[in-house]
Amino acid sequence: MDTVDAAGTGWSPAGRVRGMGTSIFTEMTELARRTGAVNLGQGVPELDSPGPLLRDVAEAVLAGANQYPPAYGFPALREAIASHQRRRYGLQYAPQGEVLVTTGATEALAAVLLGLCDPGDEVIAFDPCYDAYPAVARFAGARLVPVPLAEDGEGFVLDEDALRAAVTGRTRVLVLNTPHNPTGKVFSAGELAVVAGICREHDLTVVTDEVYEHLVYDGAVHRTIAALPGMRERTLTISSAGKTFNVTGWKVGWVCGPARLVGAVASVKQFLTYASGTPYQEALARALGGVEEWATELRGILRRNRDLLSDGLARAGLRPYRADAGYFVQADIRAWGHADGVRFCRELPSRAGVVAIPTSAFQMRPDAPSYLVRFSFCRREKSVAEAVEKLMAAV
Ligand code: PMP
Ligand code: GLN
Repeated sequence: MDTVDAAGTGWSPAGRVRGMGTSIFTEMTELARRTGAVNLGQGVPELDSPGPLLRDVAEAVLAGANQYPPAYGFPALREAIASHQRRRYGLQYAPQGEVLVTTGATEALAAVLLGLCDPGDEVIAFDPCYDAYPAVARFAGARLVPVPLAEDGEGFVLDEDALRAAVTGRTRVLVLNTPHNPTGKVFSAGELAVVAGICREHDLTVVTDEVYEHLVYDGAVHRTIAALPGMRERTLTISSAGKTFNVTGWKVGWVCGPARLVGAVASVKQFLTYASGTPYQEALARALGGVEEWATELRGILRRNRDLLSDGLARAGLRPYRADAGYFVQADIRAWGHADGVRFCRELPSRAGVVAIPTSAFQMRPDAPSYLVRFSFCRREKSVAEAVEKLMAAV
């Protein structure tokens, strides 16, 4: 849907949003609502959150934590984030100046690219990639340069040559996302070392989106590129409470990095939202301290769902790719006589009573494969099982 004025007044939106329309998540969530189909589209969890966290928010609200927090975020949360990075990755960040709380990872991404890029700069991202990256690069006047992840038969791998070929004199930033949406890929130690080497060689700033950092399965290990030699000083790490605690509606995210980079992000962030979510920030400060125990339980639930979904897709003839992490499994739809994921997803509710997202929503290259569709498994087991039954019945 475009937003050009239907009344014919000649009005049109600013160039930076022209043709952007409504996101595929909104379209598909609305389709699920209208048709009553099982929604395996948008990555919106149907799973419980930690009880003490919910109670702490309610108490914080009743105790009056309802006004602006400090612009960089509630101090105890910044300390909890710094401690989390130290404990898990051995990285030291000063809670004052090197940690910034944002309105979800989404605002962090926007503030980062607006704070780091000038018009004409190039931003590299691996394709497919989360749809916010090209959008916010465009807001910054920068050009997003997609570097395809290569298929290795069952999953997706780094293509070093493609990455090297994409770097130009205008490249300013590389956006990494591990664990990765939409593929469920976890970048290996070897792949991260290659990416880090190229970034050091060309003096690129790295933005690493790690919102699924706790959601890795089957012994896969999430590593952060910021911990590699010479990388801390050039890396901004983004994460969020949304996926880790099943609270995507709270929109509490954060950025860690060296003070000069975080300062540039804070300059933008203060005029996007200034600050938000005081009671959530207070409660999350405590929850983040105990995240490991909670995440172990959540990983168990998600891994079972992933297996249920992957097996079901395979039995329905929709070949699933390996997903080592996150919320999503990719499937190849060609065995159902389809080559176009968008058409497939628009027809799937009436054909099978299920909603999914075409991977093309995450692809920027005109020559990217069009036969991939993303199914999410962050739903109740019952919903995933129901979707699987419906898909099998529709074969
Ligand atoms: N990055 C990735 C890779 C995501 O999948 C999402 C989806 N939620 C976000 C960022 C946005 O996170 P938030 O909801 O915290 O804004
Ligand atoms: N991150 C979620 C997804 O990839 C939802 C994002 C959104 O709705 N903007 O499905």
